[in-house]
Amino acid sequence: MDIWMTWCTRVSKCKHCSNDIVSGTPMVMGKLWRKHSTGVTPPSVMRFPLVFRWHPQCWVDQGILSLKDYAEVHRDRHRPRLLLTDEQRLVRKRLIGRWRTYRFRMRVAMESNDMDYLRKLVENMRQVALEIEQVGGMPKKWAEML
Ligand SMILES: [Zn+2]
Repeated sequence: MDIWMTWCTRVSKCKHCSNDIVSGTPMVMGKLWRKHSTGVTPPSVMRFPLVFRWHPQCWVDQGILSLKDYAEVHRDRHRPRLLLTDEQRLVRKRLIGRWRTYRFRMRVAMESNDMDYLRKLVENMRQVALEIEQVGGMPKKWAEML
């Protein structure tokens, strides 16, 4: 949905509280494009906009309301976000990147049966696993590899 703020130029109804939005006051507008197929041959698709209007505060209120639903749904489905600083998050991301690189090289090394190189890679992966303990801990999947 496109959202923008503008001056209300004629009295309109607020989508949230159903009260009038007075002409000359700020309002939030939203436009949502919908597709509608016309049964004509060849079939064509008509696009038409749905337009919404809100009081500025009403738009914030309904946004926060729908955000609460969203948080409710996702709290149980996803594991909680790790409590890390941005800096720690970056370190963690880099460690995960290193792990993936080693895992990829491992697959290549397995094909060529290079045991020395494989041992070295496992060593490196153990090192990465140690370092990631400082920034949120090791992902569960990694344990199978070590
Ligand atoms: Zn309103």
